[in-house]
Amino acid sequence: MSNHKEELENFMAPFREKFGHEKEFLQAVEEVAETVLPYIAKHPKYKEAKILERLAMPERAIIFRIPWVDDKGNFQINTGYRVQMNSAIGPYKGGMRFHPTVNLSVMKFLAFEQTLKNSLTSLPMGGGKGGADFDPRGKSDNEIMRFCQSLMTELFRHIGPDTDVPAGDIGVGAREVGFMYGQYKRLANEFTGVFTGKGINWGGSLIRPEATGFGAVYFTQEILKNVGDSIKGKTVAVSGFGNVAWGVAKKIDELGGKVVAISGPDGFVYDEKGITGKKVDYLLEMRASGRDKVQDYADKFGAVFHAGKKPWGLKVDIAMPCATQNEVDVADAKELIKNKVPYLVEVANMPTTLEAYKLLKAAGVVFAPGKAVNAGGVATSGLEMSQNSQRLSWSAKVVDEHLHDIMIEIHRSCVQYGYDKKEGKVDYVKGANIAGFVKVADAMIDQGHV
Ligand code: GLU
Repeated sequence: MSNHKEELENFMAPFREKFGHEKEFLQAVEEVAETVLPYIAKHPKYKEAKILERLAMPERAIIFRIPWVDDKGNFQINTGYRVQMNSAIGPYKGGMRFHPTVNLSVMKFLAFEQTLKNSLTSLPMGGGKGGADFDPRGKSDNEIMRFCQSLMTELFRHIGPDTDVPAGDIGVGAREVGFMYGQYKRLANEFTGVFTGKGINWGGSLIRPEATGFGAVYFTQEILKNVGDSIKGKTVAVSGFGNVAWGVAKKIDELGGKVVAISGPDGFVYDEKGITGKKVDYLLEMRASGRDKVQDYADKFGAVFHAGKKPWGLKVDIAMPCATQNEVDVADAKELIKNKVPYLVEVANMPTTLEAYKLLKAAGVVFAPGKAVNAGGVATSGLEMSQNSQRLSWSAKVVDEHLHDIMIEIHRSCVQYGYDKKEGKVDYVKGANIAGFVKVADAMIDQGHV
């Protein structure tokens, strides 16, 4: 075994022993440890203070019962979570996910990624994540409201505008944030910026709905600029068709590129002419319908529908997975390599398996990790917090300019820590992991053994 491999195995061994069943969490930690351990070896202060070991241990994890009654009068129970990972650089910050796959491993992986992501934004936000194994699909508005209120009846005592500020994620949009915020306000008897992603007339920020997608495209623009290229004329395959995919399609269209594919649980759609103009906003309509079928797009606009397939077999310039974790596996990576797709830009959180990532890297595909690419979402949440503290609302132009500057700065940090002189190119995974790590690590050292 090489020195590097041995060091990684030694680091991972206690985590594997203790948390062997938490596979998503172990995957996220391993991906970070692989690039950060060699850096730590050159900076022993981080090793002595066991910073990476501490970073991978939540400061606190809350697991709670969510009892609620459905429309038929049946008693239902879900499990709620809030993982408060790290508060070295600011209050815990991160979304709430409602999805049947939510468990402690998924929550810990997301909270760990969030800590490094939030650090990259350069805003003062620690890392956290929460959610429940609740499936909002097929539920009535009243059921969603009763569920959100029951969840908040417990969660409210653990959060606060200077303690922990949740937001949306998969399955949690404006409606769910509204119901949770309403119940928080009632219990705490205060109107504060305790949530982000709020409605625009009660403390929300303009551009927040678009921010993750726009930010991802701004980051892609920087990757291309760095090699003297641009988005103009590029074809893009996107997975998912929700809020994030919509923001990506909107901005790519604006910058002269062409999103030719979107996907859903039923398969993917190939639109050779591109998802442009009015077709972009149809994505929102499709999401709001709750049908969860991208075939609707193909039927409406005469595009080709591929049932049960993912869009990674297409010959495109840029692949942008926007759906969920581990959606790009080894078979998909082989397809992307076969089709000579030059860029894989992760927009979802950890959408690529570790094995698939290794194949893509070895094949020379430029790979940008989610924690850098999708940081525009939480960065704009940070801007929403600033507006709430000021009791002001900024114009869309001001928010968008801040977002754009933040994404340029994240790209610059990735280049600073990830540029490989010998190879003459940027390792974005290494750059994002080390840049995110250093800021949190230094703050932890300054604050002592806490
Ligand atoms: N859920 C989003 C993320 O993964 C946004 C979190 C936030 O705005 O707090 O970063």
